Amino acid sequence: MSAQKIALVTGANKGIGLEIARQLAVQGATVVLGARDLERGRRAAEQLAARGVETIPLQLDVTDAESIAAVAKEIEERFGRLDILVNNAGITGGFFGPPSQATPELLKEVYETNVFGVLSVTNAMIPLLRRSEAGRVVNMSSTVGSLALNADLHGEFGGYNMLTYQSSKTAVNAITIAHAKELKDTNIKVNSANPGFTATDMNNHRGHQTVEEGAVIAVRLANLGPDGPTGTNQDDSGTVPW
Ligand code: NAP
Repeated sequence: MSAQKIALVTGANKGIGLEIARQLAVQGATVVLGARDLERGRRAAEQLAARGVETIPLQLDVTDAESIAAVAKEIEERFGRLDILVNNAGITGGFFGPPSQATPELLKEVYETNVFGVLSVTNAMIPLLRRSEAGRVVNMSSTVGSLALNADLHGEFGGYNMLTYQSSKTAVNAITIAHAKELKDTNIKVNSANPGFTATDMNNHRGHQTVEEGAVIAVRLANLGPDGPTGTNQDDSGTVPW
Protein backbone atom coordinates (compact mmCIF):
# COMPACT_ATOMS: atom_id res chain seq x y z
CA MET A 1 0.00 0.00 0.00
CA SER A 2 1.24 3.47 -0.89
CA ALA A 3 2.61 5.39 2.10
CA GLN A 4 0.94 8.57 0.90
CA LYS A 5 -2.31 9.11 2.77
CA ILE A 6 -5.52 9.75 0.85
CA ALA A 7 -7.73 12.34 2.55
CA LEU A 8 -11.18 13.78 1.87
CA VAL A 9 -12.25 17.05 3.49
CA THR A 10 -15.87 18.16 3.03
CA GLY A 11 -16.75 21.85 2.79
CA ALA A 12 -13.11 22.53 1.99
CA ASN A 13 -13.44 25.50 -0.36
CA LYS A 14 -13.11 28.03 2.47
CA GLY A 15 -12.77 28.58 6.19
CA ILE A 16 -11.44 25.90 8.53
CA GLY A 17 -11.98 23.14 5.95
CA LEU A 18 -9.72 24.84 3.40
CA GLU A 19 -7.02 25.17 6.05
CA ILE A 20 -7.40 21.52 7.13
CA ALA A 21 -7.00 20.53 3.46
CA ARG A 22 -3.91 22.73 3.17
CA GLN A 23 -2.27 21.36 6.31
CA LEU A 24 -2.92 17.73 5.36
CA ALA A 25 -1.53 18.34 1.87
CA VAL A 26 1.57 20.07 3.29
CA GLN A 27 2.09 16.96 5.42
CA GLY A 28 2.18 14.92 2.22
CA ALA A 29 -1.37 13.60 1.95
CA THR A 30 -3.22 13.45 -1.35
CA VAL A 31 -6.18 15.66 -0.49
CA VAL A 32 -9.57 15.62 -2.16
CA LEU A 33 -11.04 19.06 -1.60
CA GLY A 34 -14.81 18.59 -1.41
CA ALA A 35 -16.90 21.61 -2.43
CA ARG A 36 -20.62 21.73 -3.05
CA ASP A 37 -19.95 24.22 -5.86
CA LEU A 38 -17.20 22.87 -8.11
CA GLU A 39 -16.19 26.33 -9.31
CA ARG A 40 -15.64 27.46 -5.71
CA GLY A 41 -13.68 24.26 -5.14
CA ARG A 42 -11.51 24.87 -8.20
CA ARG A 43 -10.81 28.44 -7.13
CA ALA A 44 -9.83 27.25 -3.66
CA ALA A 45 -7.51 24.61 -5.14
CA GLU A 46 -5.95 27.31 -7.34
CA GLN A 47 -5.38 29.49 -4.26
CA LEU A 48 -3.58 26.59 -2.60
CA ALA A 49 -1.62 25.80 -5.77
CA ALA A 50 -0.44 29.42 -5.82
CA ARG A 51 0.98 28.70 -2.35
CA GLY A 52 2.68 25.56 -3.67
CA VAL A 53 0.11 23.07 -2.32
CA GLU A 54 -1.63 20.63 -4.69
CA THR A 55 -5.15 19.32 -3.97
CA ILE A 56 -7.89 17.67 -6.02
CA PRO A 57 -11.17 19.60 -6.10
CA LEU A 58 -14.30 17.46 -6.47
CA GLN A 59 -17.95 18.44 -6.39
CA LEU A 60 -19.44 17.17 -3.11
CA ASP A 61 -22.74 18.36 -1.71
CA VAL A 62 -23.15 16.43 1.54
CA THR A 63 -26.95 16.68 1.26
CA ASP A 64 -27.00 15.03 -2.17
CA ALA A 65 -26.80 11.22 -2.26
CA GLU A 66 -25.75 11.14 -5.93
CA SER A 67 -22.94 13.63 -5.33
CA ILE A 68 -21.67 11.58 -2.36
CA ALA A 69 -21.83 8.32 -4.35
CA ALA A 70 -19.96 9.92 -7.27
CA VAL A 71 -17.10 11.04 -4.97
CA ALA A 72 -16.90 7.60 -3.34
CA LYS A 73 -16.71 6.02 -6.81
CA GLU A 74 -14.04 8.45 -7.99
CA ILE A 75 -11.90 7.88 -4.86
CA GLU A 76 -12.29 4.13 -5.27
CA GLU A 77 -11.27 4.23 -8.92
CA ARG A 78 -8.33 6.58 -8.43
CA PHE A 79 -6.95 5.39 -5.10
CA GLY A 80 -8.78 2.20 -4.07
CA ARG A 81 -9.08 3.36 -0.46
CA LEU A 82 -9.48 6.34 1.86
CA ASP A 83 -7.28 7.01 4.91
CA ILE A 84 -8.71 10.26 6.29
CA LEU A 85 -12.25 11.65 6.20
CA VAL A 86 -12.87 15.06 7.73
CA ASN A 87 -16.59 15.81 7.94
CA ASN A 88 -16.16 19.57 8.05
CA ALA A 89 -19.07 20.97 5.99
CA GLY A 90 -21.48 22.81 8.25
CA ILE A 91 -24.03 25.62 8.39
CA THR A 92 -25.76 27.58 11.14
CA GLY A 93 -28.99 27.98 9.18
CA GLY A 94 -29.13 31.61 10.26
CA PHE A 95 -31.80 31.18 12.96
CA PHE A 96 -30.60 32.44 16.34
CA GLY A 97 -33.99 33.17 17.92
CA PRO A 98 -35.33 31.54 21.07
CA PRO A 99 -36.13 27.79 20.97
CA SER A 100 -39.82 28.63 21.50
CA GLN A 101 -39.75 30.09 17.99
CA ALA A 102 -37.75 27.30 16.35
CA THR A 103 -39.67 25.12 13.90
CA PRO A 104 -39.06 21.54 12.76
CA GLU A 105 -38.35 22.98 9.30
CA LEU A 106 -35.53 25.15 10.66
CA LEU A 107 -34.00 22.17 12.45
CA LYS A 108 -34.41 19.92 9.41
CA GLU A 109 -32.62 22.42 7.18
CA VAL A 110 -29.57 22.53 9.45
CA TYR A 111 -29.67 18.79 10.15
CA GLU A 112 -29.64 18.01 6.40
CA THR A 113 -26.07 19.31 6.22
CA ASN A 114 -24.68 19.04 9.75
CA VAL A 115 -26.19 15.69 10.78
CA PHE A 116 -27.57 13.68 7.85
CA GLY A 117 -24.62 14.88 5.73
CA VAL A 118 -22.11 13.52 8.24
CA LEU A 119 -23.97 10.21 8.44
CA SER A 120 -24.33 9.82 4.68
CA VAL A 121 -20.77 10.77 3.77
CA THR A 122 -19.29 8.57 6.49
CA ASN A 123 -21.42 5.57 5.55
CA ALA A 124 -20.48 6.00 1.89
CA MET A 125 -16.77 6.14 2.77
CA ILE A 126 -16.62 3.33 5.36
CA PRO A 127 -15.98 0.62 2.72
CA LEU A 128 -12.99 2.68 1.47
CA LEU A 129 -11.80 3.46 5.02
CA ARG A 130 -11.90 -0.26 5.84
CA ARG A 131 -9.26 -0.78 3.12
CA SER A 132 -6.91 1.66 4.89
CA GLU A 133 -4.25 0.49 7.33
CA ALA A 134 -5.28 3.39 9.58
CA GLY A 135 -8.64 4.94 8.71
CA ARG A 136 -9.41 8.17 10.55
CA VAL A 137 -12.77 9.94 10.66
CA VAL A 138 -12.92 13.43 12.15
CA ASN A 139 -16.33 14.98 12.72
CA MET A 140 -16.31 18.74 13.16
CA SER A 141 -18.32 19.45 16.26
CA SER A 142 -18.51 22.43 18.60
CA THR A 143 -18.37 23.02 22.33
CA VAL A 144 -21.81 24.63 21.97
CA GLY A 145 -23.00 21.09 21.09
CA SER A 146 -21.77 19.64 24.38
CA LEU A 147 -24.78 18.79 26.56
CA ALA A 148 -22.55 18.61 29.64
CA LEU A 149 -21.19 22.14 29.14
CA ASN A 150 -24.60 23.57 28.24
CA ALA A 151 -26.64 21.89 30.97
CA ASP A 152 -25.43 24.45 33.52
CA LEU A 153 -27.95 27.23 32.80
CA HIS A 154 -25.79 29.81 34.55
CA GLY A 155 -22.39 28.51 33.44
CA GLU A 156 -19.97 29.58 30.72
CA PHE A 157 -22.41 28.52 27.98
CA GLY A 158 -25.52 29.87 29.71
CA GLY A 159 -25.78 32.69 27.19
CA TYR A 160 -25.84 30.36 24.15
CA ASN A 161 -29.26 29.07 23.12
CA MET A 162 -29.13 28.35 19.38
CA LEU A 163 -31.21 25.18 19.35
CA THR A 164 -30.90 24.43 15.64
CA TYR A 165 -27.12 24.64 15.38
CA GLN A 166 -26.28 23.45 18.88
CA SER A 167 -28.47 20.34 18.77
CA SER A 168 -27.08 19.50 15.33
CA LYS A 169 -23.59 19.35 16.83
CA THR A 170 -24.90 17.28 19.76
CA ALA A 171 -26.22 14.86 17.15
CA VAL A 172 -22.83 14.87 15.40
CA ASN A 173 -21.31 13.76 18.69
CA ALA A 174 -23.87 10.94 18.90
CA ILE A 175 -22.84 9.82 15.40
CA THR A 176 -19.18 9.88 16.45
CA ILE A 177 -19.89 7.53 19.35
CA ALA A 178 -22.12 5.28 17.26
CA HIS A 179 -19.60 4.83 14.43
CA ALA A 180 -16.73 4.43 16.90
CA LYS A 181 -18.64 1.61 18.62
CA GLU A 182 -19.41 -0.14 15.35
CA LEU A 183 -15.80 0.18 14.16
CA LYS A 184 -13.97 -0.39 17.45
CA ASP A 185 -12.44 -3.69 16.32
CA THR A 186 -11.19 -2.26 13.03
CA ASN A 187 -8.31 0.07 12.06
CA ILE A 188 -10.75 2.98 11.86
CA LYS A 189 -10.87 5.63 14.59
CA VAL A 190 -13.74 8.11 14.81
CA ASN A 191 -13.52 11.29 16.88
CA SER A 192 -15.21 14.67 17.26
CA ALA A 193 -13.08 17.81 16.87
CA ASN A 194 -13.96 21.15 18.51
CA PRO A 195 -12.04 23.85 16.62
CA GLY A 196 -12.80 26.75 18.97
CA PHE A 197 -14.28 30.12 18.02
CA THR A 198 -12.56 30.80 14.70
CA ALA A 199 -12.87 33.80 12.41
CA THR A 200 -14.71 32.57 9.29
CA ASP A 201 -17.71 33.50 7.17
CA MET A 202 -19.84 31.37 9.53
CA ASN A 203 -19.57 34.02 12.27
CA ASN A 204 -18.81 37.07 10.12
CA HIS A 205 -15.19 36.71 11.19
CA ARG A 206 -15.94 37.45 14.85
CA GLY A 207 -14.03 34.38 16.05
CA HIS A 208 -10.88 35.07 18.06
CA GLN A 209 -8.82 32.29 16.48
CA THR A 210 -7.24 32.13 13.04
CA VAL A 211 -8.15 29.28 10.67
CA GLU A 212 -4.62 27.94 11.24
CA GLU A 213 -5.49 27.59 14.93
CA GLY A 214 -8.99 26.28 14.21
CA ALA A 215 -7.61 23.48 12.03
CA VAL A 216 -5.13 22.14 14.60
CA ILE A 217 -7.33 19.64 16.47
CA ALA A 218 -8.89 18.18 13.30
CA VAL A 219 -5.46 17.66 11.73
CA ARG A 220 -4.19 16.08 14.95
CA LEU A 221 -7.12 13.64 15.09
CA ALA A 222 -6.67 12.88 11.38
CA ASN A 223 -3.10 11.78 12.12
CA LEU A 224 -3.69 9.66 15.23
CA GLY A 225 -1.33 6.74 15.58
CA PRO A 226 -2.42 3.15 16.23
CA ASP A 227 -2.60 3.75 19.99
CA GLY A 228 -4.70 6.90 19.60
CA PRO A 229 -8.23 7.10 20.99
CA THR A 230 -11.51 6.48 19.23
CA GLY A 231 -14.97 7.66 20.25
CA THR A 232 -13.69 10.85 21.92
CA ASN A 233 -14.62 14.52 21.81
CA GLN A 234 -11.56 16.78 21.76
CA ASP A 235 -10.30 20.32 21.46
CA ASP A 236 -6.74 21.65 21.47
CA SER A 237 -6.49 21.19 25.24
CA GLY A 238 -7.77 17.61 25.37
CA THR A 239 -11.10 15.98 26.17
CA VAL A 240 -14.35 17.95 25.88
CA PRO A 241 -17.28 16.51 27.86
CA TRP A 242 -20.07 15.13 25.66
P1 NAP B 1 -17.53 28.36 6.79
O1 NAP B 1 -16.36 29.25 6.56
O2 NAP B 1 -18.92 28.91 6.68
O3 NAP B 1 -17.36 27.11 5.81
C1 NAP B 1 -18.34 26.12 5.76
C2 NAP B 1 -18.04 25.22 4.58
O4 NAP B 1 -19.07 24.21 4.52
C3 NAP B 1 -18.07 25.95 3.23
O5 NAP B 1 -17.07 25.41 2.40
C4 NAP B 1 -19.44 25.62 2.69
O6 NAP B 1 -19.54 25.68 1.28
C5 NAP B 1 -19.55 24.17 3.17
N1 NAP B 1 -20.88 23.63 3.07
C6 NAP B 1 -22.05 24.11 3.57
N2 NAP B 1 -23.07 23.31 3.21
C7 NAP B 1 -22.55 22.31 2.46
C8 NAP B 1 -23.07 21.19 1.78
N3 NAP B 1 -24.39 20.91 1.78
N4 NAP B 1 -22.22 20.36 1.15
C9 NAP B 1 -20.91 20.61 1.12
N5 NAP B 1 -20.34 21.67 1.71
C10 NAP B 1 -21.15 22.51 2.37
O7 NAP B 1 -17.49 27.69 8.23
P2 NAP B 1 -16.27 27.26 9.19
O8 NAP B 1 -16.26 28.19 10.33
O9 NAP B 1 -15.04 27.03 8.41
O10 NAP B 1 -16.84 25.87 9.75
C11 NAP B 1 -16.28 24.62 9.43
C12 NAP B 1 -16.83 23.59 10.43
O11 NAP B 1 -16.39 23.93 11.75
C13 NAP B 1 -18.36 23.57 10.50
O12 NAP B 1 -18.80 22.24 10.67
C14 NAP B 1 -18.66 24.38 11.74
O13 NAP B 1 -19.91 24.06 12.30
C15 NAP B 1 -17.49 24.00 12.63
N6 NAP B 1 -17.21 24.98 13.69
C16 NAP B 1 -16.83 26.25 13.39
C17 NAP B 1 -16.55 27.13 14.43
C18 NAP B 1 -16.11 28.54 14.16
O14 NAP B 1 -15.96 29.30 15.13
N7 NAP B 1 -15.91 28.95 12.93
C19 NAP B 1 -16.66 26.72 15.76
C20 NAP B 1 -17.05 25.43 16.03
C21 NAP B 1 -17.31 24.56 14.99
P3 NAP B 1 -20.05 27.03 0.52
O15 NAP B 1 -18.84 27.93 0.42
O16 NAP B 1 -20.52 26.50 -0.78
O17 NAP B 1 -21.14 27.64 1.36
